[in-house]
Amino acid sequence: MGARKKCRFCSREASVFVRQANLPLCEEHFISWFERKVERTIRRYDLIRPGDKVLVAVSGGKDSMALLCVLKKLSGCMGFEIEGVTLDLGIKGNSYSARSVETAEKAAEELGVKFHVVSIKDRYGFDLDDAVRKVRRPPCSICGLLKRYALTDVAREMDFDALATGHTLNDMARFVLASFMSGAFSELVRLTPASASELPGVPRRIKPFYESLEEHIRTYADLRGLAYMEDGCPYANTAPTDRLRAFLEEMEARSPGTMHAMVRNYLKYLRPALASYLEDELPPLRPCSRCGLPSSGELCSFCRLRDRVLGTG
Ligand SMILES: [Zn+2]
Ligand SMILES: [Zn+2]
Repeated sequence: MGARKKCRFCSREASVFVRQANLPLCEEHFISWFERKVERTIRRYDLIRPGDKVLVAVSGGKDSMALLCVLKKLSGCMGFEIEGVTLDLGIKGNSYSARSVETAEKAAEELGVKFHVVSIKDRYGFDLDDAVRKVRRPPCSICGLLKRYALTDVAREMDFDALATGHTLNDMARFVLASFMSGAFSELVRLTPASASELPGVPRRIKPFYESLEEHIRTYADLRGLAYMEDGCPYANTAPTDRLRAFLEEMEARSPGTMHAMVRNYLKYLRPALASYLEDELPPLRPCSRCGLPSSGELCSFCRLRDRVLGTG
């Protein structure tokens, strides 16, 4: 940052500089700026309503741990309830899943948030490692499906109104860009800050960090003293998305605000156009004939995956 600057809101020396808003802030005012920004996202997109019961998915990484912390803070003044959940995916490499559960549980306890652990193996009869061995598909794609399904399933069973995940502005920007490169527009069109409840009784999925950059989330997590897991999933180094992620971060470093402009313009101009263009091609969601969760066909993609892994298809 160069020359010492004063915090915009008090006389203390600034320790964080928010380049996107040209804003020097002291630690305390960074924390309140960050929390206010998330609150604005929640209000702007009507993510959470007073009286809602919100289940927060926590992986033990910085994003979801920060999300748990922010939502706990906001729950009081905005009038909603939160609980946390961590999936034990059964990833044995680096004791990843075991550490993930332990890290999240400790944070929830410190924050005073009711917490649940759900073992994928106990619940569905197989875990991620089993699926990766049996199905010829990139681990991250299997894992994404598994997490999305299990979290929705658990949130529905426990009667939550919304399921909050730690997807960030960086994730959103990467997804928009990747969809252009692969032409996956029917998936892109489903990318919104809040997916409406697709079927009665199914909680809506919300992304309160939709407008939050990972660099700010990390600073927030550090200033709040959250003990998050530094290392990623052991399968992650097989993912091709890393280069896109790095490319976007470089763009952001050169012209602050790039990711936000990209995601905002997608949402404001492109998505409505895309949705009306694809209207007839998108199959309406209906309950899976086996599990009842939203599906585009007779059996949902999770139930089909499970059949393949367990050999019951
Ligand atoms: Zn200050
Ligand atoms: Zn199903």
